[in-house]
Amino acid sequence: MQPHQPTGNIIEFDTSRMSSLEQVPSPFHVPRPASVAELHRQLGQQLQTSLEADRLLGIFLTAVRALVPVSGLSYRHGPTDLRLELGEAAPHRTRYHLNHLGESIGELVFQRSTRFDDFELHQLEALLPCLLFPLRNALLYRAALLDALRDPLTGAGNRVAMQQTLTREVELARRHGQPLSVLMLDMDHFKSINDRFGHPCGDEVLKAVTTRLKSQLRNVDMVFRYGGEEFLVLLSNTPEKSAALVGQRLCQAVNSMEFCSHDGHLPLTVSMGCASYRVPETLDALLARADSALYQAKRNGRNQMRLAV
Ligand code: GH3
Ligand code: MG
Ligand code: MG
Repeated sequence: MQPHQPTGNIIEFDTSRMSSLEQVPSPFHVPRPASVAELHRQLGQQLQTSLEADRLLGIFLTAVRALVPVSGLSYRHGPTDLRLELGEAAPHRTRYHLNHLGESIGELVFQRSTRFDDFELHQLEALLPCLLFPLRNALLYRAALLDALRDPLTGAGNRVAMQQTLTREVELARRHGQPLSVLMLDMDHFKSINDRFGHPCGDEVLKAVTTRLKSQLRNVDMVFRYGGEEFLVLLSNTPEKSAALVGQRLCQAVNSMEFCSHDGHLPLTVSMGCASYRVPETLDALLARADSALYQAKRNGRNQMRLAV
């Protein structure tokens, strides 16, 4: 049998809420208004118990299954690249785009091995409005959590994120002997960029350098803004030798940037210290070694990487 063509449905919150209150008679099934109303009420209450999107969808799927057999549910919120999969994937799908006042709340795809009939689709659609506000709140909550961990100027991780991530990574390195390296970076003569071209230009340089650093790294590597014009790059599962190569590559990548201000091309360089975790040192000790290697690089003439001792 050919898979059912995905059905794309747009649910507008305000209108869908009103239509969900009506009982549309089904040509195929005897509707159960009392139990559906009760299910609505229970679901509404349960969806207030969490701000986590995956938990909300789990609650929602359980409620849906009380009315309509569904094997899997997938959710995607494009603007924040959030993707969640629940249950089992199956070939027959029905798809809903959830919108609220023009804002996308995401796309839900219900899946199973047989076609959904019209009455089942009506029942799914009657439950969807219960999910909209809780899901919207979950997206806001998630955005707030992410913002709390991000440096607003550059989009790199901030000090809070850095501390949390490094603590976890050092613990993993200590327990499982997994290699871990850090690069401590400091822009060279950055004060003179501010002095000559102005603070806003300095801000643009910081953003461009962050983008440049990220473009040279794997997805699993992380860039944090340590403060001012200093960054920390975390290279998980990376021993010293490979980290040193990455460090040299980053130095070259910044050095070859084509950053132009209104006064023309601006040469940019960074200095960095590279340190790899040694059991049983503390996180502070690891950072102190990277920091002193960075100062070695500065003393040695800048625009270079030095290995920590
Ligand atoms: P060195 O090569 O020794 O590191 O010299 P430097 O000029 O980079 O170091 P210094 O510590 O003297 O200056 C750092 C400058 O970074 C001073 C500070 O105003 C600037 N800075 C820190 N945070 C920001 C920021 O968010 N935006 C801008 N534009 N400048 C910043
Ligand atoms: Mg500095
Ligand atoms: Mg500097």
